[in-house]
Amino acid sequence: MVSSKEVKELAISLGADLCGIAPVDRFVDSPKGFHPTDIYSKCKSVIVFVKKMPSEIIMADSLVPYSHNAFIIYPELDKIGLELSRVLEKKGVSAVPVPCDTPYEYWDAEISHGMGILSMRHAGYLAGLGVLGKNTLLVNKELGNMVYIGAVLADIEFEPDPVITESICPPNCRICLEACPQKALDGITANQALCRQGSISKTGRGFDLYKCNSCRKACPKRSGSKCASKT
Ligand code: SF4
Ligand code: SF4
Repeated sequence: MVSSKEVKELAISLGADLCGIAPVDRFVDSPKGFHPTDIYSKCKSVIVFVKKMPSEIIMADSLVPYSHNAFIIYPELDKIGLELSRVLEKKGVSAVPVPCDTPYEYWDAEISHGMGILSMRHAGYLAGLGVLGKNTLLVNKELGNMVYIGAVLADIEFEPDPVITESICPPNCRICLEACPQKALDGITANQALCRQGSISKTGRGFDLYKCNSCRKACPKRSGSKCASKT
C-alpha cells in the first residue's frame, strides 16, 4: 500500500513544488457534472500538486515572457500527472490524470464561459495547498499566487491534508478588484466574459498573448514568503 507521504514525495520528485491530498467527499459543493466522480466514478482521493512560475515573469514590460511560459507550465503539470499516474499504477493504485487547463467540454458561447472538467483552484484549496483570494486565484502562503495546479484522481483513500481555514485577504483589501480594468471581479467570482475580453489578445501573426494579469500582479501576496522577488 502506498502512503500519502510516498505519493507527495513522488509528485515532488517529478517536478512539483508542493502536493496535497483531498478526500473525494470534500467536493460536495462541486457543480453537477464537475465532481471528481463525474470524471472517474471510482475516485476516492484527489491528489493535487502545484508548480510555481518565477514571480518576476509577470512584472516584465513585454507580454511575451509570461504568455510563453504559461503555455510551457501547463504541459509540464500534465506530464507530472501522467507520470504520477503511471508510477501509482505500478504500485497497485488506479489513477486518472486530469488536464490542468484544456481541453474541456463545457462552453457557453453566448457569455464566453468555459469550465475545466475539475476546478483546479478549488481542488488546490480542498487539498490544503492554499486559499482562494478575492481575485479568485489560489494563494499559497509560502509560494504566493504564481502557482499552477494539476490533479490526479485515485481509487484509494489516502490520508488527507487539512484544509487551510484562515483567509489570506485582509478584510478591507480591494487592491485586485480595483486593479481590474474590466471590473470583472466581485470578491468571490470572476466574470469570465469580461475577463476574456480584457486579458487575451492575438499578435498580428496570430500568437496568443495574455495581455492582462493585473489582479495577479497587484496582489501583495503575489510572491509568497519564500520568494525573494519584491511585490
Ligand atoms: S486578468 Fe485582468 S481582466 Fe481578468 S480578472 Fe484579472 S485583472 Fe480583470
Ligand atoms: S489583492 Fe488583496 S484582496 Fe486581492 S487577493 Fe490579494 S490580498 Fe486578497
